[in-house]
Amino acid sequence: MEELRKVAEVDLWEGENPAPRDWILERVVDADGILVTLVDRVDRELIDRAKRLKVISTYSVGYDHIDVAYAKSKGITVTHTPEVLTEATADLIFGLILAVARRIVEGDRLIREGNWNKPWSPEFMLGKEVHGSTLGIVGMGRIGRSVARRAKAFDMRVIYYSRRKHEEVDYEYVDLDTLLRESDFVVLTVDLNPETYHLMDYEKLSKMKRTAFLINASRGAVVKEDDLVRALKEGLIAGAALDVFEREPIGKDHPLAQLPNVVLTPHIGSATRETREKMAEVAVRNLILALEGRKPLYEVP
Ligand code: NAP
Repeated sequence: MEELRKVAEVDLWEGENPAPRDWILERVVDADGILVTLVDRVDRELIDRAKRLKVISTYSVGYDHIDVAYAKSKGITVTHTPEVLTEATADLIFGLILAVARRIVEGDRLIREGNWNKPWSPEFMLGKEVHGSTLGIVGMGRIGRSVARRAKAFDMRVIYYSRRKHEEVDYEYVDLDTLLRESDFVVLTVDLNPETYHLMDYEKLSKMKRTAFLINASRGAVVKEDDLVRALKEGLIAGAALDVFEREPIGKDHPLAQLPNVVLTPHIGSATRETREKMAEVAVRNLILALEGRKPLYEVP
């Protein structure tokens, strides 16, 4: 805020996120730039009202909440915060892999609920080995590559599917069906776009091994959630670990929260103090540079 106030008059929503839609629609009329988060929908209605707008800076790498094509058609620059959040998000994804495979959350719950009442025994709470297993990455982008690097330290076989083969990495490029068939862990690291919307539906889930796990920390809508619930109930896959959901936040009555073989986190992929500070710096820098008519650090392609 200090940086922004040096160069502009700032209207700040000081309440809880998100700012009410009406508040934004009113303020945007005279704004040269806006800084939003992923819960603010920047659609045609908003863009049409913002006659002076030069830049939309989002405090996120994902930009599926912004009508980028429309903004660009109006000459508005759209910026985001990639790279600075890659490692934190990959850490969380690896945490989810370990948590769901080794039943860490389930074990914690068991103790807290007072149900650890038998001595050690050979077949108690058996999970799936992470080291040496096959990791399938869907979307070999920044976060996908970062997860793959961690997997190598766990002696995992890494295979991936993306729209194209990435020559800069040395992992096995396969088609999506092969990835689903061969992976012990399917990790989704694609951005949400019309092609990836509901990419993982019942048909795709049924191609996975019955012993495999689905990990999603991309966007909720990449998975067709009702189909995932069905697949989990039918035992088509062994479990899932999810940081993102089709409609956030979800409550304790959500069907996914009823299933023991699912680990849930509340959209905290980039939520470390260090990363959030860097995201704030980048989002502000982007905004200021674009307002000054200079090239922002990260413009949405
Ligand atoms: P990125 O570098 O753009 O990676 C996305 C990858 O997905 C790219 O390699 C992309 O292009 C690939 N892809 C896109 N459409 C595809 C399709 N139809 N089929 C296969 N692959 C496709 O972005 P990133 O920085 O890694 O971030 C990825 C996403 O993670 C973000 O967009 C955001 O939604 C999410 N995210 C979530 C959190 C969280 O808190 N949970 C935190 C950070 C990011 P190619 O196909 O050309 O390889």
